Amino acid sequence: MGTIQSKKDGNISPAKKKPSNYLSKSLYIRGLQCHKSLYLEKFQRDLKSETTAETQALFDSGHMVGEIAQGLFPDGVLIPYIEAKNGVAEQLRLTNEAVKNGAKVIYEASFQYDGIFIKVDILHKGHRGWEIYEVKGGTKLTPVYVDDAALQYYVLTGAGIKVIKTFISYINNGYVRKGALDAQKLFISEDITKQVKEKQSFVIEQLKKQRRMLSGKLPKIDIGPYCSDPYECDFCNHCWKHIPEDSVFDLREKGVDRFALYAKRIIKQKDIPLDLLNKKQRQQVVATVKKQNAVDKQKIREFLKTLSYPLYFLDFETFMSAIPLYDGLKPYQQIPFQYSLHYQKKKGGKLYHTEFLAKPGIDPRKPLLDKMLAAVPEDVCILTYNMSFEKGVLTELATQYPKHKKAIGKWIDNIQDLMVPFRQRDVYFWKFKGSYSIKNVLPVLVPQLSYEGLEIADGGAAMEAYHQMCAAKNNPEKLAQIRENLLAYCKLDTLAMVQILETLGELI
Ligand code: SF4
Repeated sequence: MGTIQSKKDGNISPAKKKPSNYLSKSLYIRGLQCHKSLYLEKFQRDLKSETTAETQALFDSGHMVGEIAQGLFPDGVLIPYIEAKNGVAEQLRLTNEAVKNGAKVIYEASFQYDGIFIKVDILHKGHRGWEIYEVKGGTKLTPVYVDDAALQYYVLTGAGIKVIKTFISYINNGYVRKGALDAQKLFISEDITKQVKEKQSFVIEQLKKQRRMLSGKLPKIDIGPYCSDPYECDFCNHCWKHIPEDSVFDLREKGVDRFALYAKRIIKQKDIPLDLLNKKQRQQVVATVKKQNAVDKQKIREFLKTLSYPLYFLDFETFMSAIPLYDGLKPYQQIPFQYSLHYQKKKGGKLYHTEFLAKPGIDPRKPLLDKMLAAVPEDVCILTYNMSFEKGVLTELATQYPKHKKAIGKWIDNIQDLMVPFRQRDVYFWKFKGSYSIKNVLPVLVPQLSYEGLEIADGGAAMEAYHQMCAAKNNPEKLAQIRENLLAYCKLDTLAMVQILETLGELI
């Protein structure tokens, strides 16, 4: 399952490089995105960026989705991944044996044809022949899934398997968990047999092109939209290193074709004709070129008037999972597991702090809500940064715990958003680089506070840390360290808000 190159499709470590005509499913998909990426992956993997916490979390959740999807066809024969020297041959042998023994369902069935080794998530024997079920963690059918399944069909039919149907099983985001997981309802299986068959000549042609390319030198391919489509390429650090700071690619907002400018060798923002840009982009470029800051004092005064004391600065950390872990959850729903709360009873008054971080391995929502109910009065002003996120989390909590709907509703009504003056550019410093994210605003306005040096420095890393915390529940030392890192990160988020608000006051 998934798209990150994995062991199951014969991941090659640099030490065990296979002949250059060897391809796997993920190498083929990589090659469809960019030939240079495929070449580098095969021969210069040292140029690759490290896997990010977010990618790792995606990868881990992919494993879980694959296992749950086996519930679509229970009691199958599992062909395990075998890493030994003769691992591929052994997996092929076990698959062959399962087929000969009359297995009706095989998980991770392994096949090889035309130098390509693949594992099929679920192979099911229907009345007229075999059906491929390729499991995906996404919530809709995408073209790259069809490419993926088309290669599987090519290998299986080439290996002599009579495939009559090919399906993509993806996550049904309308599913709400109630009791035990129901794989039949959690997944939607879409029949893509027709598309897959139509793609067969394309597969043959692409394999030929990829192999021809691999037998030569590194292809000369410049950066392009394909660097992030359909996946973020992990060689960007290498290929994009000639792009300077404040380039056309740092322009915010839609409406400008960055690659068209780049093709005309317009790379720095200062070289962009201003009439191509919208108002906000023009403001960004002019501010960058002139190193200018802009502060609309009247607008800031108006914003500050919307706040009242006592003032509570709130930030949630959440995790999400393709598989709803608890009752009442949908796939990919944000589940709050932590909050930090700074508060001041009066303007410029003493700063108090309180926080919550769930214990690992439990549904964190109720303990979090209970602690918050005890800590936050109903009628106070709550300040967040990007309030739609906090409002969304609170709305889901109100739905899950209707007894507290009234109190939560009042919190929601009283939320204000510190991001507003930055998003509206009432305050714009050229060093924000067009961004209004707290991660960009904080180091410019409050340089003494920084996320640098923290083990966890963004929401994606916090999410991954939470998963690690759950995995480490029997390792008290590791658990304590992760908890400390998470608490430090979330506390900084609300302290950052306190100090940004103070700075806004100073600006006027
Ligand atoms: S960064 Fe872009 S050009 Fe470089 S290998 Fe990846 S997709 Fe290709």
